[in-house]
Amino acid sequence: MTDSDPAEALGLYVHVPFCARACPYCDFDFEVLRQTESETGALAPRVSAWLEGLEAERDERWAGELAGRRVDTLYLGGGTPSAIGVAGLERLFAWVESRFALRLAALDEVTVELNPEHLDAALLARLVDAGVSRVSLGVQSLAASGLRELGRVHAREQALACVRRAHGAGLGTSADLMLGWRGQTPAGLRREIDALLEAGAGHLSIYALTIEEDTPWPGLVARGQRELPDDDVQAELLQVAEGHLAARGFRHYEVASYAAPGGAEAIHNGKYWRWRDVVALGPSAVSVRHGLVEGRGVVARRMNPRGLERWLSGAAPEYERLEGESAAAEGLWLGLRRLEGVDVAAFSRRFGLPRSWVEARVARQVGLGNLEWVGDPPAARLRVAPGRWLVHDTIAVDLL
Ligand code: SF4
Repeated sequence: MTDSDPAEALGLYVHVPFCARACPYCDFDFEVLRQTESETGALAPRVSAWLEGLEAERDERWAGELAGRRVDTLYLGGGTPSAIGVAGLERLFAWVESRFALRLAALDEVTVELNPEHLDAALLARLVDAGVSRVSLGVQSLAASGLRELGRVHAREQALACVRRAHGAGLGTSADLMLGWRGQTPAGLRREIDALLEAGAGHLSIYALTIEEDTPWPGLVARGQRELPDDDVQAELLQVAEGHLAARGFRHYEVASYAAPGGAEAIHNGKYWRWRDVVALGPSAVSVRHGLVEGRGVVARRMNPRGLERWLSGAAPEYERLEGESAAAEGLWLGLRRLEGVDVAAFSRRFGLPRSWVEARVARQVGLGNLEWVGDPPAARLRVAPGRWLVHDTIAVDLL
């Protein structure tokens, strides 16, 4: 495979597989970390083992591939990166800077996912000193009933104080909100959004609560302690959120993402929608590379084993390789997550297929009014039609 342009910078993702406790709806890859440090002040053995695993993964698998590639974004996701505490994050920052030969402060974006109960003054100061530019806060809800339903441990005021503190320190501040928990109302959702905006959130990520079978939630439903989310209620809440944020000048720039007026879009996350390469380390982390073979697009993914123990023990990653039309169809679908749409000329360069292929592939969805063409070649774009972004997932049926 011809590699992507070596001048094109990579995104770096590190999966932090620890949480302070388990939320009943979550199917991410994590284990509960009871303490971040041992009694002697050393890092907890599981955190040390994970850091050693990162070192081994970087040495064994990525040195060759990384050679000559510049990294311009870092995203620490999880799990809950803040669960490893200040000492754990400091070790991680130092390791990234030394092993990837970069300075965090010089990157285009460094995002750390945090839970509100963890962001105290000491952690905030360390994040700023280290060169972190953006935090993504797992707020999920500000309502006492929502926090209880979702099994979150923070309180409303704690979350808002956290947004204020991060924003006040000059960090890009994004908050996650979850929609569709039992008892949530449109009026309550508007109040949650207003409170977050007033506290200084410059970016919101808004998701419908989805329940996977292998989480505790179905068991709670069986015992009458939770309900499964209702699709229609969630669709209404998603539209309420969009309307309310639009009225406050927020740009709905991606299916689940909103940016404040003049505020920044997520750069690292944007790499997935713009078909950029990402190197991902840690359990369950997924790396992606793009290239061309005889003029046809190729997308190669490496999916690390799930579970800290399996990853540490050297279980083999899984590989996926999409070529030609399958790579292009997936690329089109991912690109359509951005509401500005897909630049069809850039798409053709990346995937080696002409506009006529795109036209044929999307004809039915254009006919249904779900997708629309904007502008003329060579600047033509294809986008989800205004007001139709809720059907993004169903568009996949035709595209993929
Ligand atoms: S804190 Fe986040 S990653 Fe951890 S269990 Fe809860 S939702 Fe999942």
